[in-house]
Amino acid sequence: MLSFLSHSAYDEHKMHDGHPERPERTQSILSHLKETGQWPGFKHLQACPVTDEALQRVHEPLYLKKISASAPASGLVMIDPDTHLCPGSLPAARLAAGAMEQAVDLVLSGQSKRIFSCARPPGHHAEHDAGMGFCFYNNVAVGAATALAHKSIDRVAILDFDVHHGNGTVDIFKDNPSVLVASSFQHPHYPNRYYDIERANIVNTPLKAGTEGSEFRKAIDRDWLPALEKFKPQLVFISAGFDAHTDDPLGDIHLEEEDFKWVTELVVGAAKEHCEGKVISTLEGGYNLDALARSVSAHLQALAD
Ligand SMILES: [Zn+2]
Repeated sequence: MLSFLSHSAYDEHKMHDGHPERPERTQSILSHLKETGQWPGFKHLQACPVTDEALQRVHEPLYLKKISASAPASGLVMIDPDTHLCPGSLPAARLAAGAMEQAVDLVLSGQSKRIFSCARPPGHHAEHDAGMGFCFYNNVAVGAATALAHKSIDRVAILDFDVHHGNGTVDIFKDNPSVLVASSFQHPHYPNRYYDIERANIVNTPLKAGTEGSEFRKAIDRDWLPALEKFKPQLVFISAGFDAHTDDPLGDIHLEEEDFKWVTELVVGAAKEHCEGKVISTLEGGYNLDALARSVSAHLQALAD
């Protein structure tokens, strides 16, 4: 049974009015899963806050100190032009990152094989020493580094199909051959960092604006499958962003729910081949509330299978 990690404190992370990364995102997912009848099919768990030890595996101590010191008692503090801290932001960010630490323990102790963390803020733009692009802590990186801290694990893969490049994840693991990072993304597009880096463990798949589902599928088959076959991960993570949906306001890639289901099936298939089907997925982007909810539903159908 798929474990579904969430927490009501995610709702307390609110940036300015009109900001696309808003509490309604996770709320719409939860409502949709209840309406469609999927909700009772999951094992529901509350996310726990991340430990300092886990955060320090992926972020610079000075950055962690700086961001904690920046957290306001009221109002908003700007981290970058798109990314603001309110009083509820860091507690939510600690839960979003902590869910990944928790997910690794659940999977490696044999209590769960598939996990989805319905979390916000997202994480994949957060670099080693900087928050950016709606992200403060790199949630998926915390998961991967936590897994590698276990003696039994020395190869983990992170697959990222968000419309934006997972620059933070690439930054954190670019010199760590124990982590395969494969990211598909619209290009040129935000954040325009590390998209052309050349490393054996980094697989960048740029997609031009207007890319349709069929071209996306060809590119993933071409780039991800051979990389996974060669790397043979012992645990697979997904940075599950749904802003490559054709209805999303922040991207210009034309994926539909079926494409997200397809790519999830591909990842689950690879995980079954290499690591007994162990997959941990965490929410990244997705800003059209209806498209996001339907896409997550399709993702979970494939993930639970
Ligand atoms: Zn995104």
